[in-house]
Amino acid sequence: AAAAEEAANKIPVVEDSYEAPDDAENFKFEAEVSRMLDIVVNSLYQNKDVFLRELISNASDALDKVRFLSISKPELLQGEEKLQVQIEFDSEASTLTIRDTGIGMTHDEMISNLGTVARSGTTRFLQGLKGADGESGQVSQIGQFGVGFYSAFLVADRVQVASKHPESDTQYVWTTTNGSSEFQIFADPRGTSLVRGTEITLFLKEDAIDYANETRLQTLAKHYSEFVTHPIYLRTEQT
Ligand code: ADP
Ligand code: MG
Repeated sequence: AAAAEEAANKIPVVEDSYEAPDDAENFKFEAEVSRMLDIVVNSLYQNKDVFLRELISNASDALDKVRFLSISKPELLQGEEKLQVQIEFDSEASTLTIRDTGIGMTHDEMISNLGTVARSGTTRFLQGLKGADGESGQVSQIGQFGVGFYSAFLVADRVQVASKHPESDTQYVWTTTNGSSEFQIFADPRGTSLVRGTEITLFLKEDAIDYANETRLQTLAKHYSEFVTHPIYLRTEQT
């Protein structure tokens, strides 16, 4: 455990937030995604904690995927053999970062996976809503189906996703601000800092800054990693 902790402490610190450059590509969310985001953001859903379950579960899926694909394509693991999840926080900047060494996303995958309803989760969620009666219905649907990635907006004003697919030379950043109908994509100004995988940075809402706390994250990560077979490291804060 000491060695693991030491390894986790070697992770480069997330650099300060940066704005999308002028030449960033701009995309509109599909109407149904915007609808769902509205519901997530405005819902009275109490248990915001589930965002961490969803992000850990996505990281775990991505790790399973690269592990499986690497059986026939071992070169996918080149430069980064470890399959792991790292959680970091910065209480001063009110940010929370979840990073994995999974399969990552290409430029085009970021657009389709994070901006359209071509995903089972969203479709099921919206179908479930049709039968929902009013606020309480909506609220329970969120818990039932899980809003997946978009649950990040339960706690974040802005979400920034950096991802490096092993078969793409470029690491891309996907970013959007809560309430916007658009998202931006641009080449990561940090270069290929990830080697492989995905890093999700949450710029926490005023009422969610207490997630940037070691004890809280320790408890939550433990709770939501019960069925995750990959190691999850929580990086302690350095002052
Ligand atoms: P679901 O997990 O049900 O497919 P999500 O909303 O949780 O729906 O995630 C949407 C999609 O975004 C995933 O299917 C995956 O393709 C992509 N994705 C999300 N997080 C990651 C990640 N950490 N690494 C790679 N791909 C991811
Ligand atoms: Mg998911």
